[in-house]
Amino acid sequence: MTNQISAQSTSQAPGDRLARIQARIDAACRTSGRDPDTVSLLAVSKGQPLHALKTLIASGQQAFGENYLDEALEKIAALADAPLTWHFIGPIQSNKTRAIAENFDWVHSVDRAKIIRRLSDQRPDSLNPLNVLIQVNLDGEQQKAGCDPDQIEALAARIEDSPRLVLRGLMAIPAPREQRQEQIAVFEQLYDLYAELKLTHRGVDTLSAGMSGDLEAAIIAGSTMVRVGTDLFGPRRSQT
Ligand SMILES: *Cc1c(COP(=O)(O)O)cnc(C)c1O
Repeated sequence: MTNQISAQSTSQAPGDRLARIQARIDAACRTSGRDPDTVSLLAVSKGQPLHALKTLIASGQQAFGENYLDEALEKIAALADAPLTWHFIGPIQSNKTRAIAENFDWVHSVDRAKIIRRLSDQRPDSLNPLNVLIQVNLDGEQQKAGCDPDQIEALAARIEDSPRLVLRGLMAIPAPREQRQEQIAVFEQLYDLYAELKLTHRGVDTLSAGMSGDLEAAIIAGSTMVRVGTDLFGPRRSQT
């Protein structure tokens, strides 16, 4: 962790951690002259036990992000009575799209045409259209999910042509950078892509950027949704 607040927060109860993350979001908004209501918090619960999610739900958190399908489906079933919003944020294998389309409200990691087609075909008519973010690979990292920036527009057009999907914006996971200024610079590149997409696609309103170590930089650069795991729950049980 790169700052004192996150180091301290590991000794806190989950409810306190939630307040602390909200305070970090509020402070970053103050720094950048933004309204804190324009930044939402996605609780990234991968590798966390069910009771930890329940504690956070009791404190008012309703949006949860998961990376691994089997783990996610167990939690979604166990918490079916709570009014939660589930976001799939992990890399998508094409044989997993049906379960994603049937069980999630949002997908942050859409990065190719085949996945768009399958998610739209498989989204049940009984549910609202699936909210979709295009994941962008900003650093050209071969091993990482995400499309090249120059593919965004073509993917956006396909999503808009998909009756069961709604294009909401972009997501990225930049390679870690030590310096706050370097973090801000890469998130600003992402924000520029987002602003461009917004010009031509009316429903676009979500930029999913920023995690435990860099949420301040992401907010300063214009993120509208931060995805926080470690600093909200403490260390993950498993890194699977
Ligand atoms: C795990 C994960 C996060 C949360 O990361 P932390 O550093 O634990 O806050 C956010 N986004 C994605 C896509 C992740 O996989």
